[in-house]
Amino acid sequence: MNAYHAPENLLAGKIILITGAGDGIGAEAARCYAKHGATCILLGRTVSKLEKVYDDIVAAGGSEPAIVPLDLKGATVSHYQQMAQTILDQFGRLDGLLHNASVLGHLSAFKDIGEDEWRDVMQINVNGTIFMTQALIPVLEKAPHASVVFTTSSVGRKGRAFWGTYAVSKFATEGAMQTLADEYQNKSLRFNCINPGGTRTNMRAQAFPAEDPATLKTPAEIMPTYLYLMGDESIDVNGESLDCQPK
Ligand code: NDP
Repeated sequence: MNAYHAPENLLAGKIILITGAGDGIGAEAARCYAKHGATCILLGRTVSKLEKVYDDIVAAGGSEPAIVPLDLKGATVSHYQQMAQTILDQFGRLDGLLHNASVLGHLSAFKDIGEDEWRDVMQINVNGTIFMTQALIPVLEKAPHASVVFTTSSVGRKGRAFWGTYAVSKFATEGAMQTLADEYQNKSLRFNCINPGGTRTNMRAQAFPAEDPATLKTPAEIMPTYLYLMGDESIDVNGESLDCQPK
């Protein structure tokens, strides 16, 4: 999908919510979506980082974004419902939702996974994604063709020793996407996953501290797949899990 060339106006007039929009791949996706005409809703837990992305978008001439400060670790169904109502009141619909925020947790043997660690990773990577999607579906259904993109990983397709908690959370992500895609066949909503592959971010450095970051693709280099799934050229794509990089 990295060969995809998006037209400059691919996302003109679209309202797109990006989680984890303050850093890494999410921040780049927000800047890139805005550059292609979208109005972005920037959700994340560190307000200063969201404000920086906001400033970048405005300085580049993009449509003024909205900021939603929310820590998925403590977020409840009622937070998601309030957010959905606010988006409905302010914009009348939601055209795109990029579930990007995740945590890695600590890599450890499966038998040593701590209860608190397990619960925190599941709360952020799985519960947050599921309950936010549930709350936003009625707002997404107001759009003519809405796209929901989940973020998976190669360990969400094949388990890997010592990656237990994160890997299980990404298997759950793939499962949620497939279930929703099947339920919404032939409807105005589509659900797909993106696997970014090894990308130069804080999370990757946490997972592979000895690796030279210069050997990795940057978030900007993997944006074609993010654009493709958010734009109307992928209207007929539903239930797919796409790779940004060759395996
Ligand atoms: P980063 O750690 O660089 O960025 C993650 C973003 O999510 C940050 O902005 C972070 O906020 C936000 N976030 C984390 N926890 C929460 C929370 N509790 N509430 C709200 N926001 C939160 O990760 P990447 O950019 O590398 O990863 C993006 C996605 O891509 C993830 O889903 C990851 O699993 C996936 N992925 C990444 C790969 C890679 O090589 N980089 C490979 C495969 C998959 P803050 O800035 O405040 O920390």
